[in-house]
Amino acid sequence: MKAYSELNQYMAGISDILNTMNILNWDARTQMPTGGNVTRGFQLATLSGLAQEKLVADQLKTLLEKAEVETASLPEDGIERRNLKALREASELFRRTPERLTRDLAGLRAEAQHCWGQARAKNDFAMFAPLLERMVGLQRELAEVIGYTEHPYDALVGIYEPDMTHTKLQNLFRQLKAKCLPLLERIRAAEPPREEFLGREFPLGQQRAFGLEVAQAFGYDLERGRLDTSLHPFEISFTRDDVRITTRYQPNFLTMSLFGTLHETGHALYEQGVAPELSRTALTSDLPGMYAVGGASFGTHESQSRLWENLVGRSKIFWRHWYPRLVETFKTQLEDVDAETFHRAVNRVSPSLIRVEADEITYNLHIMLRVELEAALIDGSLSVSDLPAAWNAKMQQYLSLTPPDDARGVLQDIHWSAGYFGSFPTYTIGNVMASQFFAAARAQVPNLEASLEAGDYAPLRGWLTEHIYRHGRRFRPQELLQRATGHGLDAQPYLEYLETKFTGLYQLEG
Ligand code: ZN
Repeated sequence: MKAYSELNQYMAGISDILNTMNILNWDARTQMPTGGNVTRGFQLATLSGLAQEKLVADQLKTLLEKAEVETASLPEDGIERRNLKALREASELFRRTPERLTRDLAGLRAEAQHCWGQARAKNDFAMFAPLLERMVGLQRELAEVIGYTEHPYDALVGIYEPDMTHTKLQNLFRQLKAKCLPLLERIRAAEPPREEFLGREFPLGQQRAFGLEVAQAFGYDLERGRLDTSLHPFEISFTRDDVRITTRYQPNFLTMSLFGTLHETGHALYEQGVAPELSRTALTSDLPGMYAVGGASFGTHESQSRLWENLVGRSKIFWRHWYPRLVETFKTQLEDVDAETFHRAVNRVSPSLIRVEADEITYNLHIMLRVELEAALIDGSLSVSDLPAAWNAKMQQYLSLTPPDDARGVLQDIHWSAGYFGSFPTYTIGNVMASQFFAAARAQVPNLEASLEAGDYAPLRGWLTEHIYRHGRRFRPQELLQRATGHGLDAQPYLEYLETKFTGLYQLEG
């Protein structure tokens, strides 16, 4: 296996570049003064160019061919052959992508994000529209380069979620709407829970300490991680041995920092749980996206943040264990609130205009709206000029709300200006997968419920590591699901979870 090990050395160099880019990105979002913005952009572009050069080099092509011969008798789904497959696919994609398209996309991304920020501040969609139109044009070109059989959106969604298609998403959304829309109706007619205490003043230092205590209890290893603050919370890794998370704090918004920390901890557990032998290989790198990441797909990654945040962190048994500790930490703020009341408050359902503030029921409706609109932009059935009106019509249809302005409507997310067409579905796919994984863990791990109730997360984390985390990007998401749960993507466990949880919380008649 001479060529294979030489190839691994070569790939390790590419991985080092991608991980260094992650460090620069982490720094830009947590430490860097705003003045560093422009030169940081140059630094990242230089490194990304270096990595791409290495991926299209003839040296790699030759090594790949030799290594493929060497490994031909090994199992198709083993680490070696999957590693080579990831390298070959990325190398071929970069070879057939016109340099002009890569350059135009990078340039437009920077310009469009800047313009979007201003347009949102001025609440002026018309100002952003010409750039969005150019972005849709480039995304269509990109879809042609990547290739698809049915719908151009399939190519774009596949960047984030391999094998997902427009048709599969439509089927999934149909099932979710059939459950969520009537459930939302019933919740709206019910008595809302008490929640005013969530707006009390919670000292920031204690918010941080409590969040970190839970993160560590989940298994987040601070020898290989750290928690910082940033404007938008995120998780980022520079191999499994350095996996960082951020959150944000507001004195009167305990739930934002708390659940934000639990969410990012879920992402971090995935990265820290990748098998050491996959470090610096193609199986811990999203090569087409030029990003060092260990998870199988965006949706799979999101399934872990949502599993730890929602299925664990917003459950009754979680608070049965942690609420006394929370009251000890915030004695004056919570002295008149019991665990049951707190649990209902952090699970309240309240339709809002803003996606990032949405609850578990309405969140998916925000996603469906965006996916339906972006797919229509890509196939040409919706024009950019008609987008604000189409947005508002769907908001009315799904959430019975009308945005008072475009800043709180069509201009609220950065994704389209950044060229991330096709990434929105992964949030909902993450919700669906999370319930599938959790149901499988429940069925396979003896006394899982009792250990969770006792605040012992090792059995759950052990199952997730064994079936998901350690594999990195070795399996495609559907394959990983099938191996871990016995099914492909299946909405049923998620629909049952929503029904049981919210009919209980709101005491709805069955
Ligand atoms: Zn996330």
